[in-house]
Amino acid sequence: MEIEIATIGGYEAVGRQMTAVRAGDDVVIFDMGLNLSKVLIHDNVETERMHSLDLIDMGAIPDDRVMSDLEGDVKAIVPTHGHLDHIGAISKLAHRYTAPIVATPFTIELVKQQIKGEEKFGVENDLIKMEAGETMSIGERNELEFVNVTHSIIDAINPVLHTPEGSIVYGLDKRMDHSPVIGDPIDMKRFREIGREDNGVLCYIEDCTNAGRKGRTPSEAVARRHLKDVMYSIQDYDGGIVATTFSSHIARVKSLVEFADDIGRQPVLLGRSMEKYSGTAERLDFVDFPDDLGMYGHRKSVDRTFKRIMKEGKENFLPIVTGHQGEPRAMLTRMGRGETPYELDDGDKVLFSARVIPEPTNEGQRYQSEKLLGMQGARIYDDIHVSGHLRQEGHYEMIDALQPQNIIPAHQSLEGFAPYVDLAENMGYTVGRDLHITRNGNMIKLTE
Ligand SMILES: [Zn+2]
Repeated sequence: MEIEIATIGGYEAVGRQMTAVRAGDDVVIFDMGLNLSKVLIHDNVETERMHSLDLIDMGAIPDDRVMSDLEGDVKAIVPTHGHLDHIGAISKLAHRYTAPIVATPFTIELVKQQIKGEEKFGVENDLIKMEAGETMSIGERNELEFVNVTHSIIDAINPVLHTPEGSIVYGLDKRMDHSPVIGDPIDMKRFREIGREDNGVLCYIEDCTNAGRKGRTPSEAVARRHLKDVMYSIQDYDGGIVATTFSSHIARVKSLVEFADDIGRQPVLLGRSMEKYSGTAERLDFVDFPDDLGMYGHRKSVDRTFKRIMKEGKENFLPIVTGHQGEPRAMLTRMGRGETPYELDDGDKVLFSARVIPEPTNEGQRYQSEKLLGMQGARIYDDIHVSGHLRQEGHYEMIDALQPQNIIPAHQSLEGFAPYVDLAENMGYTVGRDLHITRNGNMIKLTE
């Protein structure tokens, strides 16, 4: 059987991930994401109203025109988890394929919301929920399996396409977490089994994000302990404490909510995306928040809540807000600019349970936000966080478990590939033979 891989997006930078695998006549697409920094750089674009081709030209969504060179039928579109760099282009591209979107329940729900917000195209692909550990047939001879992984968003999987020539493991976005705060540990047992199957692993596509960092990425349990230490250390403070984190990071939001309660403050979630992700996770029973936890997204209800906090005393509350990267329109940035009814005083604490995504736009915006908060007297607690991506020893363990015949590094720039290439070459792979460095829009033929 002919196996071919189209590396469509995410092979030159982090963002707009999209890969297609053709096994015989069947094609499966993994991810259809957005490149957020290309959107942020044009401050006022409303992607909801933009046409696909304009977004492709901006570098915001994958250039899927290479799909016409793949001779097969698309049987499924498979987003691996709900981050926007993996699902953000579905509303712009999925309608071009007559195939269902197959994902885990939380991811499907986020896809559904994204499609609803789309104003240009009517995306009517079927949405199929499939849990980690389950499989579905792809055509006559191939099978799709979801293997549970741990990442900075709940319900993440790595999809595996089993073909007569061996498996294709699409390994984007995971950390090896054996004690995640929500959900099951990464299923390393299953990865090791897949590595030992008769035909083995024909190809492993891997996210190189932290390949340059030594050791292993700590568990979410470590970030939780760090957060607990910080919050307990300021429990006697009788002024304002404000926290921010990735709104899609439900495990972290859960820890913030719990520790707020421990130190005698009422947590409240503020900002549109805080309401969206936490509300969705609670509705789908991934997390059990206290009954009286307030979640407010709309400007008016947020301002009303801030006014109530100021009236009843800042020392009784812990607002958990958007704006961890200093995004200009997010809640924390507005607080820094003095645009909300919440007044910061000298000595008030601001907790960033996030790290700055190392990218110039974010770095600049975050710098500005911290300075504005500091000018109002806020004390900053930074970097209470662990990454969602594997470091070197995690990468080593994955290659060791899967023993793939071919490896394709992804989810990075050429510079970002380099440390991963070093690691793989040390493990016996060779660039140009079984280690394939590629760019967006290329085709790699694995078997004739
Ligand atoms: Zn991700």
